[in-house]
Amino acid sequence: MSTLTNPFEIARETLRLLAARRIPPSPENYQTLYHEIAGTKAGGGLFPEVQLRSLAAALPKTSPDQLRLARQLDEAVKAANWDDYKKHLTDFVAALVESQKLGWSELIADLLRQWDAKHAGLTSARKRESLEHVLKTSVANPDTLFTRMQSLLRSWGQGREAEPTDAIIATEADYSEIAPISKSTVASNDLLPELRELFAFTLETAMATQLIESPQLSTDAKALATEIRNANSPDQLQEFLTRLKRFAFKLELLAEDQTELRHSLLGLLRLLVGNITDLVLDDNWLHGQIDVVREIIDKPLSQRALDDAERRLKEVLYKQSQLKASLSEAREAIKSMLAGFVDQLADFADATSDYHDKIESCAEKISAANDISELESVLGEVMRETRTIQINAQRSRDELRSTQKKVQESEARITELERELETTSDLVRHDQLTGVLNRRGLEEIFTKEAARATRHETSLCVALIDIDNFKKLNDSMGHDTGDEALIHLATICRETLRPQDTVARYGGEEFIILLPDTPLNDAASALTRLQRELTKKFFLHGNDKVLITFSAGVTQMKPDDTQATVIKRADEAMYQAKQTGKNRVVTAGNQAN
Ligand code: GH3
Ligand code: MG
Ligand code: MG
Repeated sequence: MSTLTNPFEIARETLRLLAARRIPPSPENYQTLYHEIAGTKAGGGLFPEVQLRSLAAALPKTSPDQLRLARQLDEAVKAANWDDYKKHLTDFVAALVESQKLGWSELIADLLRQWDAKHAGLTSARKRESLEHVLKTSVANPDTLFTRMQSLLRSWGQGREAEPTDAIIATEADYSEIAPISKSTVASNDLLPELRELFAFTLETAMATQLIESPQLSTDAKALATEIRNANSPDQLQEFLTRLKRFAFKLELLAEDQTELRHSLLGLLRLLVGNITDLVLDDNWLHGQIDVVREIIDKPLSQRALDDAERRLKEVLYKQSQLKASLSEAREAIKSMLAGFVDQLADFADATSDYHDKIESCAEKISAANDISELESVLGEVMRETRTIQINAQRSRDELRSTQKKVQESEARITELERELETTSDLVRHDQLTGVLNRRGLEEIFTKEAARATRHETSLCVALIDIDNFKKLNDSMGHDTGDEALIHLATICRETLRPQDTVARYGGEEFIILLPDTPLNDAASALTRLQRELTKKFFLHGNDKVLITFSAGVTQMKPDDTQATVIKRADEAMYQAKQTGKNRVVTAGNQAN
């Protein structure tokens, strides 16, 4: 390999070799061959992407213009659009030269004017102090120096000239009035680019996404973000401010609309709840549910309260739909029985009026009879008719009895159905014995609590508790006493824990407790408190005090946890509590996953 050092010679040799080796003359091939001939190493990555990216990265980013340029260059590199790259860079430099050329002479003239002018509450010494501070802190960056000087002069000028047309200036001046010493002013100016970017980010990301249901406002927010990023001159800022005010006004209108909407929706819900109560006067179970819903919607709205209301309403609606079906069935049955009864009555009436006619004619025949033989035939007729009416009456009575029986059966079925319904409704989410949630109920709540914890970045803890030596209690005192002990434990859990904690029966004598918005240590303390409560509030078997203890495992939900993994971890910790002597609370650390 030759040892060429002159770049021209290396370039010529590179081209020659490309032709000789019949290699396509792409920039990459040229680069590789160039380095091969020069005996140098390629800088990694393709030209010019890496080099231009590193150039963009090396540029200062202390002013909004510089930040914007960095973003534009970055986008140009990403799109491999070198024309854009060149254009942004040259525009920036040209604007810089222009602004500096134009601005400095005016600024110095302004400085001289302001220096000589009298400002209320501002002595020459104070002016000197703030000017020296600006000079000292901006020496490294003429751009920053320019902006800070401008701002300083504006704050001096405010006392004399008060420029009400420029609200941004007025705002800055207000700020320097609160803190007229230059240090504060300078500090606020230091933060301006950052504040500007933050403002743009808030408009673009936080606001625009919140306004999804108002597409026009969402677009406005994004446009304002672009505008604040690009607004550099006072005129542009003024324009931005005018738009921002319009935007804020529209937002206010939207907020008012939404408040009204919320009121109306709540009103509607209250109306619905009120009417359901009237419709189901005779159903105590439904009344309880409705009261809970009403209580929830009367309190200030929160996601938790809404979730709760939704859950309760679902239960009400489920039960209602079942009741409606069985009631219409019962109504149909009674209707058809009534129809049958009316038919019977009509037949019976016909038969009896016929009988009356016949008996009357017999009576006439009897009174007109001249001898006993005539009476005999009339008597035969009377007996025949009476027997017929007797048979009819018997048949009607039998049929009425059977109808009555059917009605009774139907009523019994309705009662049974209603009882069954109540059980089914309860079974949907609650454990029949203890009244706490069952596995299905737990699943629903867990999904909601886990989502809420993720959304609010709060800690959700899960505990699994298992009664100690429960088999022994069952064996010595009987299964029914065991059942009562389970009810006792569930009751103490609900009394001791916070309302937002969830208690669910997970299996025989195992319960799961969800503790939202609770750090792990606090969750463990809550369980210890529960253990203490059980020692104070004994379970009574007849007159005997029975101490129930439990072992518990507690763990905190992690981002990648599912219900199964988190319960498994709690279960392992609970097992550890059993292994190390029972009646203990063990927390599962991070490594226990
Ligand atoms: P440990 O301290 O290790 O947990 O012992 P244990 O006796 O509590 O645990 P084990 O799993 O051996 O026994 C649990 C018992 O709980 C067995 C079962 O008969 C009883 N059990 C499960 N469900 C019910 C229920 O609904 N009512 C009653 N009374 N007992 C139940
Ligand atoms: Mg067990
Ligand atoms: Mg047990």
